[in-house]
Amino acid sequence: MKAAVVTSFSEVLEVGERDIPEPGPGQILVRLEACGLCHTDIHAARGEWPVKPSLPFVPGHEGIGIIEKLGAGVTGRTVGERVSIAWLGSACGACRYCVDGRETLCEMQQNSGYSIDGAFAEYAVASAAYAVPVPDGITSIDAAPLSCAGVTTYKACKVAQVKPTEQVGIFGIGGLGHLAVQYARIMGGTVVAVDIERAKLDLAADLGAEHLVDSAVVDPVAAIQALGGLDVAVVLAASPRVFEQAFASLRRGGRLVCVGLPADDGAMVIPIFETVLKGITIIGSIVGTRQDLAEVFALHATGRTRVVTETRNIYDVNDAIAEVLSGKVPARLVFDYVTVPATV
Ligand code: NAD
Ligand code: ZN
Ligand code: ZN
Repeated sequence: MKAAVVTSFSEVLEVGERDIPEPGPGQILVRLEACGLCHTDIHAARGEWPVKPSLPFVPGHEGIGIIEKLGAGVTGRTVGERVSIAWLGSACGACRYCVDGRETLCEMQQNSGYSIDGAFAEYAVASAAYAVPVPDGITSIDAAPLSCAGVTTYKACKVAQVKPTEQVGIFGIGGLGHLAVQYARIMGGTVVAVDIERAKLDLAADLGAEHLVDSAVVDPVAAIQALGGLDVAVVLAASPRVFEQAFASLRRGGRLVCVGLPADDGAMVIPIFETVLKGITIIGSIVGTRQDLAEVFALHATGRTRVVTETRNIYDVNDAIAEVLSGKVPARLVFDYVTVPATV
């Protein structure tokens, strides 16, 4: 099978042939149809975070494909079923977090495309219990970004408890942000979209954002405070400075939701006096549960969200990464393993 492999944190990915993996007990073999390129895959390939993946590894955690084989003891999944391979590759199912509905905090979890091989390949093995079924009526190309960008921003809006009449700032209108705009609106919020690229802001307006702030041209804090400030700020740009701008854009009772993951441990300065006096809440939010993803798929299947993508060939993975880093791609790039012939 063809696979894109990270062999070194300082080299580009190598695309080549690998053996098709065998599903072990409790696992399934999935023939992939599509996989999105999340910015997390770029952080992973460069080893930018404090906890690094072990080399070599196959990135990719927005994988959508068809089950081709069941490992020993698998029940509840069938050959031919379409599933999503998301960041939460598996969890223990028994700890306090797994049991009380916070499985994404499980300390025993495995992460697709990070601690275990992911979906930048024609085939991947996955834990049967953690592969989420994809309902009919959603294309695999749309389902791919929903599997991380979608579920992560849906969850971020959920944990922020966005209410109708509240003003919600979305900082970074990329793969995650273009879906965040839509979930914030579905929950009733008025959206302020913030980015440094005009085209991204135009897309946000198209998707329903009421206010646009171009941080490359204006001071975002002054512009947002002139709009009355934010009840909720969801930060998706991977730069500590943007978190500080988002914090300073909050009004009293505001919630800062940290989602973007800057390199290293990404420290920001929080003024304690202001946090106390304004009653600010700071929340970290990591992807979403299998149930959150099922809800994201259900919303999309009923036509409530729009996924903006362009497809690429997995052989062009390094060019695709450069495109994302340039800030010029519209929302999400998705590797299409079905209609784009993979040629060298
Ligand atoms: P992306 O590259 O598609 O989007 C990032 C966006 O931020 C771009 O539109 C870019 O123009 C914009 N941006 C850059 N600098 C900015 C600035 N100064 N002000 C405003 N906007 C700015 O990336 P993505 O795939 O959407 O991922 C975003 C981040 O979220 C990454 O760090 C990724 O690792 C992280 N992430 C976190 C989770 C989680 O569970 N917490 C899940 C997925 C991704
Ligand atoms: Zn992701
Ligand atoms: Zn657990």
